[in-house]
Amino acid sequence: MIDKNQFRGHEQVTYFHDKESGLKAFIAVHDTSLGPAAGGCRMWPYDNEMDAMNDALRLARGMSYKNAMAGLPLGGGKAVIIGNSKTDKSDALFKALGRSIESLNGKYITAEDVGMTEQDMMTIATETDHVAGLPHGEHASGDPSPFTAKGIYLGIKAAVKYKMGKDSLEDLTIAVQGVGHVGQYLCGHLHKDGVNLLVSDIVQENLDYAVEHFNATVVSIDEILSVKADVFSPCALGAIINDDTVPNFNVPIIAGGANNQLAEDTHGVRLMDRGILFAPDYVINAGGIINVSGETTGDYDIDWVNKKVDNIYNTLIHIFERAQEEQRPTNVVADEMAEEIIAGAKRA
Ligand code: NAD
Repeated sequence: MIDKNQFRGHEQVTYFHDKESGLKAFIAVHDTSLGPAAGGCRMWPYDNEMDAMNDALRLARGMSYKNAMAGLPLGGGKAVIIGNSKTDKSDALFKALGRSIESLNGKYITAEDVGMTEQDMMTIATETDHVAGLPHGEHASGDPSPFTAKGIYLGIKAAVKYKMGKDSLEDLTIAVQGVGHVGQYLCGHLHKDGVNLLVSDIVQENLDYAVEHFNATVVSIDEILSVKADVFSPCALGAIINDDTVPNFNVPIIAGGANNQLAEDTHGVRLMDRGILFAPDYVINAGGIINVSGETTGDYDIDWVNKKVDNIYNTLIHIFERAQEEQRPTNVVADEMAEEIIAGAKRA
């Protein structure tokens, strides 16, 4: 029944059904060797239960890797609700999910993901304490985007240092795809450092903001994928590194915040073959989860959060060096390093 490609080393996957509210959800716990399994809750109109479960399994494993590489005391997990986030939401549904999470006794901590809002999290939190990413309250950490953007900025600096031997970004050209929450904050850092910014977005208002505040030049949504620049920074969509785009990139570095940038793992090999240095997405965009994890300890400490975010620079340098030594793609090396960290915690 289970897709063996997705069921790899998971500790648990549980199906929750609540007849009254209509809740149908899977919670997958991949690994808790480093700490409770943390990862967002996604609401999506999956075609069937199998698709939902396989997605939960895949995403939970991804969270284990992300949390491990960020040096967090957290394992990886994910919840998925089968439903349409525009039409199927109700307080009863989220309360039922809250009770489901509570029944796992702290083994899984949820937060916001696709289809979910801060308000939904507040409703879930009426039934369980195992919720992070709340908008207000004693330990609420607020909007994660500035932390995500800072991590990406430092990741770009690491990639530029490694690939081009430069400590400064001044006068470099960086193409940012998507100037939403993360993209805007990122442009702020880059502009301050004297970067020439090329930006694309599908929302005119966001482009106007980037032009006005960061002196950015707008390029079309197609052009951004082949424009000549020092860095391409995808901050909009997943699977943007694919069969169509790989041959056209005109940059030595790809380093951005979007989740799941590689359509397939093999696209990491194709980038390596083209001499393009790729900063693995779940490593460079971990600033947000680092900030949220500050809540899970029950004692939010901004210095601790900043230190962890700053360390993204060193982690990426480490990945780049090992990938070079072993002549292997950076995404494969990052996965292996994460597996080593988890295995080490298991042994301990
Ligand atoms: P957002 O929705 O605020 O911004 C995304 C921007 O991309 C929007 O302005 C949107 O109009 C634009 N966009 C959509 N399609 C586009 C296209 N074809 N070409 C160019 N631009 C397009 O989202 P966000 O919070 O800034 O997140 C951006 C990415 O980073 C997402 O992939 C998200 O999963 C990932 N991410 C975000 C965080 C965080 O803290 N917000 C953390 C980790 C990862």
